[in-house]
Amino acid sequence: MSNQPQLEKLNLEMSACTKCILRATCQRVVFGSGNPEAKIIFIGEAPGKKEDELGIPFMGSTGRILDKMLEGIVIKREDVYLTNLCKCRPPENRDPLPEEINVCSYWLEKQIQIINPKIIVTLGRYALNYFLPDTKISQVHGEITELKIPKIGNQKLFPLHHPAAARINRKTRAIFTQDFQKIPNILNQIKKD
Ligand code: SF4
Repeated sequence: MSNQPQLEKLNLEMSACTKCILRATCQRVVFGSGNPEAKIIFIGEAPGKKEDELGIPFMGSTGRILDKMLEGIVIKREDVYLTNLCKCRPPENRDPLPEEINVCSYWLEKQIQIINPKIIVTLGRYALNYFLPDTKISQVHGEITELKIPKIGNQKLFPLHHPAAARINRKTRAIFTQDFQKIPNILNQIKKD
């Protein structure tokens, strides 16, 4: 059975969410986009200005970097699922607060339960620390971690730097590119197992 109807129902509920203060200043809830049956879910931090305008995660210059990386491993944006830890844009693009992440994670948890991906790719330290608190991205990027997530079950976590960090720092860009290119092998290995 397709995950589409369940995801649509969830998105409808999410678009009416006012559980935290972020909804008061953003234009819309940016729930996510992509394939409801995706094998990979990419999780960023929170929508930025462009995402808030368009209602689609990872747009603008950061989105272009992600698109380029996906193109490099011959995977289409439409084949994966893209979302954020916080579904509403924080004012002036400030970092999401722990209480905002905490309350909004309800939606992320539901999305993961419905999509049930083979790999969860976290982009940046906020998404990483949601799953692995107190872990430094510099120590775990580009490595698979097997996780048992409460209410979700066993998942493979693949932490990457955030494409926005890759955009502004040449060294981070090189690491991000190198890590990203491991994704096809990981998928192949999962298929064999
Ligand atoms: S950030 Fe999340 S919890 Fe807060 S209002 Fe938006 S959807 Fe609801």
